[in-house]
Amino acid sequence: MPQMPATRLAPSPTGALHLGNARTFLVNWVMARREGWRIVMRMEDLVGPRIKPEAVAEVYDILRWLGLDWDEGPYTQSDDLGPYVDAMGQLAAAGLAYPCELTRSQIEAASVAPHAGDPHELRFEPGLRPELGPRLFEDRATNWRFVVDEDASVTFDDAFAGPCTEQPGRTTGDFVIWTKLGQPAYQLAVIVDDARQGITEVVRGDDLVDSTARQLLLYRALGLGPEPRYHHLPLVVGPDGRRLAKRHGDTRISAYREAGVSATRVLGLLAYWCGIVDQPREITLREIVAGFDAGKMSRERIVFDQEADAWLRA
Ligand code: GLU
Repeated sequence: MPQMPATRLAPSPTGALHLGNARTFLVNWVMARREGWRIVMRMEDLVGPRIKPEAVAEVYDILRWLGLDWDEGPYTQSDDLGPYVDAMGQLAAAGLAYPCELTRSQIEAASVAPHAGDPHELRFEPGLRPELGPRLFEDRATNWRFVVDEDASVTFDDAFAGPCTEQPGRTTGDFVIWTKLGQPAYQLAVIVDDARQGITEVVRGDDLVDSTARQLLLYRALGLGPEPRYHHLPLVVGPDGRRLAKRHGDTRISAYREAGVSATRVLGLLAYWCGIVDQPREITLREIVAGFDAGKMSRERIVFDQEADAWLRA
C-alpha cells in the first residue's frame, strides 16, 4: 500500500528562529497544506549537551505566532533513545559500525587532501579504520562511525535542486553516527525518525544537501524504506553572501515581534522571498497558501539586506 504523504517540521532549539529558517518552515508548511501532506512536529534536540527548555518552548511559540501548525507530535528526540540504540545495534551487528576514539587532530593529521565541502567536516581516511566485523553496540560513551565504501556514489533526484550525485566516501569517509555524549549523531537520528514517522517529503535548507547521501546510505544499510523525496531550498544569506547569522543584525522573529512587527508583516517579507508577491506587503497565511507556486520560487539564494529590515520595521 502506498504510504500516506507526510512531512516534518524539524527545528533544532540551538539558535532562535530567524528570518532564514522561518522561510524554510513556511515553504514546508505551505507545500504540506496545499498537497495534503500530514505534518509531524519533531524537536531535534540531540545536538549537544545543553538544551534549555526555554529554547524549545520559544521555537513552538514563534511557529504558532506565525500560524504554522502541525498534525502530529511534537516528538522530542531526547525523550527516548531506544530506537536509535536499536539501529546502532543493527549496524554494529552487520559490521557496518565501529567505535572510534581518534581525536580531530589525529584525523586531520592523517588527511591526505583538503576537503572540498563543509570546512568543519574532515575526511576520515579508510586507513584509520580498525578491522571490520560484527560487533556488539556496548560502549555508548564513545564515538561510533559508519563504514562508507570509498567508491560509494549516491544519486537522488531532488524535487527542488534537481539531480544530485554525492560521493561520501571521497568527501567525509566513515562518518560519526553515535557520539561520546551517549546519543546518536544528527545523521542517524534524522533517518531513524524519518523512517519511523513515515516521512515521505523532506523539505529543508540546501546546507543539508550534502548530508542527504550519508542519510540515504544509512537508510539502505538499515533496510528502511521507501526513501523520502527531498526538496532542498536555497538559504537566505546576508549582503556578504554568507548564511544569515548574528553578524547581519538581529533577524530573530522574536526580536521583530518584540519591536511590534505583526506576523502578517513578517509573512509578507517571507512571501516576497517565495515569489508569491512582487513586493513585500502584509499577507495572511491563507493568501500565501492560495498564491504559492514552487515553480516561481527563486533557485538562487535569497539576500536579506537593510531594505528588507527597514520594510519590516516601518
Ligand atoms: N534540525 C535540523 C535543523 O534545524 C534540520 C534537519 C533536517 O531537516 O533534516 O537544521
